[in-house]
Amino acid sequence: MTTNITFTMLKPDAVEANNIGPILAMINKAGFTIKAMKYLRLSKEQAGNFYAVHKERPFYGELVDYMSSGPIVAAVLQKNNAVADFRTLIGATDPTKADEGTIRKLFAKSIAANAVHGSDSDENAANEANFFFSGLERF
Ligand code: UDP
Ligand code: MG
Repeated sequence: MTTNITFTMLKPDAVEANNIGPILAMINKAGFTIKAMKYLRLSKEQAGNFYAVHKERPFYGELVDYMSSGPIVAAVLQKNNAVADFRTLIGATDPTKADEGTIRKLFAKSIAANAVHGSDSDENAANEANFFFSGLERF
């Protein structure tokens, strides 16, 4: 299994605020290479399946509604230590707790509308990349 990739989404708030360009620039500047990318809007069902691990959590319904509320950018990123380094680059889930200079500190609107997704393990990175991309769409 590939262990040097992670999966990200630029969430509806980041797209709506015209922050695709600045966020991708930060991702590239931090040393990540884009291995796959697409611009799409998730259905409620697709968002629910993507976040199925959070089904029992109180914010699940709101999260699914939010993530299907507008277009997103989905991407597979490559770098040594990709999962951990990307979590460092994006910062804490709650932007009020995110370190200065992180993507969420700079761009997130709230704990729900927090600009970006980042995988939390190599296993989930592989699963999440496969959820969005076929082999033909990955480079
Ligand atoms: N989320 C939320 N309220 C919370 C915690 C999480 O709306 O109290 C949303 C938020 O968009 C977050 C996503 O659910 O990014 C997934 O939660 P997780 O704990 O996996 O945070 P992440 O891995 O994205 O930092
Ligand atoms: Mg998570």
